[in-house]
Amino acid sequence: MLAPTSPTAGEAAAEATAGLRDRHGRTATDLRVSLTDRCNLRCTYCMPEAGLPWLPKPTLLTDDEVVRLVGIAVRDLGVKEVRFTGGEPLLRPGLVGIVEAAAALEPRPEISLTTNAIGLERLAGPLVAAGLDRVNVSLDTLRPGTFKDLAKRDRLDATLRGVEGAAEAGLAPVKINTVLMRGVNDGEAPDLLRFAVEHGYQLRFIEQMPLDAAGVWRRDEMVTAAEILEALRAEFDLTPDPAHRGSAPAETWLVDGGPAKVGVIGSVTRPFCGECDRTRLTADGQVRNCLFARGETDLRDLARSGASDAEIAERWREAMRGKLPGHGIDDPSFLQPARPMSAIGG
Ligand code: SAM
Ligand code: SF4
Repeated sequence: MLAPTSPTAGEAAAEATAGLRDRHGRTATDLRVSLTDRCNLRCTYCMPEAGLPWLPKPTLLTDDEVVRLVGIAVRDLGVKEVRFTGGEPLLRPGLVGIVEAAAALEPRPEISLTTNAIGLERLAGPLVAAGLDRVNVSLDTLRPGTFKDLAKRDRLDATLRGVEGAAEAGLAPVKINTVLMRGVNDGEAPDLLRFAVEHGYQLRFIEQMPLDAAGVWRRDEMVTAAEILEALRAEFDLTPDPAHRGSAPAETWLVDGGPAKVGVIGSVTRPFCGECDRTRLTADGQVRNCLFARGETDLRDLARSGASDAEIAERWREAMRGKLPGHGIDDPSFLQPARPMSAIGG
């Protein structure tokens, strides 16, 4: 067996200034930043109806702290895309200013938002002016009653107005994320696709993952990518999209010959961990190297203790080096992360 060799001084210096590499050959360039754990909906696959014990305000990163950490990620760690999410990011009072500051970074990252769109009709214009490039809106149903059952709030109209507002503000093509739940909205896949195609939105179905706060997700009850495709094929002709998938989690198909497309993110049954390029920052300043990570690395207290940008960058690199090769949902020893999706940032 070869004895391990120590890195040369040059190699050690290169490693210290490198991007967010892990031990499995992946480099994270896509940063998801949660701006709040709070939300004005209660989608059952995400949050209990009564809400959750929210993160105490003093533990949340301030707007300046968010901007500092995003800046370190972009300037020093090779992050190229920054997506703001939550909880519901439109509830963060400083959102427009944070987007503006992120857009002023050099090199300029791509900036996107994942939102339930409530209030987006009013905010889309200011967000675009601030530098927002793209938006993903979560929309699981077109039926008001189902929306109320699923999200525990009667807000379908507000969501639809938000989607339209985003398109009008120039965020086209708006991407729509849909999670199907058996016996709730799983019969709506073709209707949702027809709606998306008619309006020029890009629809992507996401398999439900074990990230609900109540911990009631069941592998044998979730609607699988294969079932979603079968339901769509009953009404549409789907052909594999010739465009290169790269590290994108969605497998895409041309709808009735194109140009419309539909995506399916088979996070559970067709995992794409080998191509993962993500790193995550929670609203309270913890780095997570995976949605399903059981551990976190605190950057908030490090930043508050007076650490330099270089020290914070190195702690972030260290956190990513330990990323596991896969989420292991199918492993009998799989344990759901302690935080639900809304507190991690989807
Ligand atoms: N509130 C915003 C929204 O709903 O778009 C942003 C945060 S939400 C946590 C981000 C995305 O995660 C949404 O598209 C939502 O549908 C998805 N999501 C939440 N819980 C999920 C779960 N258990 N499995 C799969 N996707 C989930
Ligand atoms: Fe809120 Fe988004 Fe979770 Fe729904 S999925 S409860 S909109 S954070």
